[in-house]
Amino acid sequence: MNDPMRMHKHDAATAALREKIFEYARVRMELDPPPLDGSASWADLRAAMPDTVTEDGIGGDKALELFGDVLAPATMSIDHPGQVSFIPTAPSEASILFDLIVSASSVFGGSWLEGAGAVYAENEVLKFLAREAGMPESAGGVFVQGGTNGNLSALVAARFDAMHKREEAGLPRPARWRVAASEEAHSSIAHAARVMDVDVIKIPVGDDGRLYGAAVEEALAGEWDGVFAIVATGGTTNYGIVDDIASITAVAHAHDVWVHVDGAYGVAAMLAPSTKKHFAGLGDVDSFIVDPHKWLYAPLDACALVYRHPAIGRAAHTQHASYLDVLTDTTEWNPSDFAVHLSRRARGLPLWFSMATYGVGAYRDAIEWNNQLAQRIAQVIRDSDHLELVRDPMLSVVVFRRKGWTQEQYSDWSDRMYQEEIAACFPSKHRGEPVLRFAIVNPRTTFELLMELVERLKED
Ligand SMILES: *Cc1c(COP(=O)(O)O)cnc(C)c1O
Repeated sequence: MNDPMRMHKHDAATAALREKIFEYARVRMELDPPPLDGSASWADLRAAMPDTVTEDGIGGDKALELFGDVLAPATMSIDHPGQVSFIPTAPSEASILFDLIVSASSVFGGSWLEGAGAVYAENEVLKFLAREAGMPESAGGVFVQGGTNGNLSALVAARFDAMHKREEAGLPRPARWRVAASEEAHSSIAHAARVMDVDVIKIPVGDDGRLYGAAVEEALAGEWDGVFAIVATGGTTNYGIVDDIASITAVAHAHDVWVHVDGAYGVAAMLAPSTKKHFAGLGDVDSFIVDPHKWLYAPLDACALVYRHPAIGRAAHTQHASYLDVLTDTTEWNPSDFAVHLSRRARGLPLWFSMATYGVGAYRDAIEWNNQLAQRIAQVIRDSDHLELVRDPMLSVVVFRRKGWTQEQYSDWSDRMYQEEIAACFPSKHRGEPVLRFAIVNPRTTFELLMELVERLKED
């Protein structure tokens, strides 16, 4: 047997590798802009890469070299200013830096016993978000991996609450548990329903794309049995439309039903002066999520899940086992108790450090700046002859059409912009027709860059 300690030595080789890694990170952080990079076929990568996972390894220098030369260029930089597809991300400088410290610190973020300091700091951010939403000081929650887990965990808590209430009232279980959401709700809601084996009631939105309480009332038409939650979307992924949270909550609460707001992308906009109004009523809902990796300038991957009554989240999610009792039989705040997870990275810390570094005012300004850019470019599109706005942007997603273009023309154009490393602006669909989208969450995305795209859309 070779030296079994060889992975854990503080020797000269480790020190040299450490410096190389820091240097790589430093150079990557200084790229302005980073290359757009991205995608290669499996066959291309197979041809370019030697076997790396071998009995003896290839050494850190070689592995780092392959990462830099082959793998990184085949991985999109989603912080590139021209990255306006899907919902990209643009982590702040401080949040990226602190992510390195989180990695180096071996934090177990699942329990207060093991992670008190880290959990305290994460909770400061959750309290801030809850307060900003208008929730009472007693609100709280946890950072989970992403919006999908956040939505699932909130809905599990909602059903637990409904089940508990029925048991208390001596009522039997309903034939089927049901969750209602707008037809524009994110795919993760349907996925959560599949995991939970519950039915989804899809409710039509108004002409403005928003879900209203009256539509919920009408769609359920008195048939509320088994409905344990209404999901309102706080900024749809495709259009950035915010449902009418206040009227939905009024209707749901009149029927004693949980309201969850899926704000993975959009709830960040409650921080900005021009868009705060869209989130009226958020303080009265039972749970909401917002992904720091979408529009709160934090690195992947993190979702803040906030409960109005954290005790319900805890009752629904605490895992019980003899080996866990020392962790869970406490009144301390154990992040594992609030979602479908146990071991966890303290993934809220990069956001905490960044907020502490710059102040939340910097967040308000950056989000407002993104909003204003969306409004400005929307006006350009309205005024142009070759483009047509699909709808007025509520937040920072601008959806529009190039008049007279076929799907193929959209695809060719978007391939060109991508090959030229100008932008990743891939066509999306609106009612079956191709459209383009600018999803603006990066403060480095400029008006000039978007104008260049608008101009280039005149090409055939
Ligand atoms: C992105 C998104 C999700 C899913 O979040 P992940 O972090 O990707 O799991 C859910 N809902 C909405 C509205 C989103 O935009």
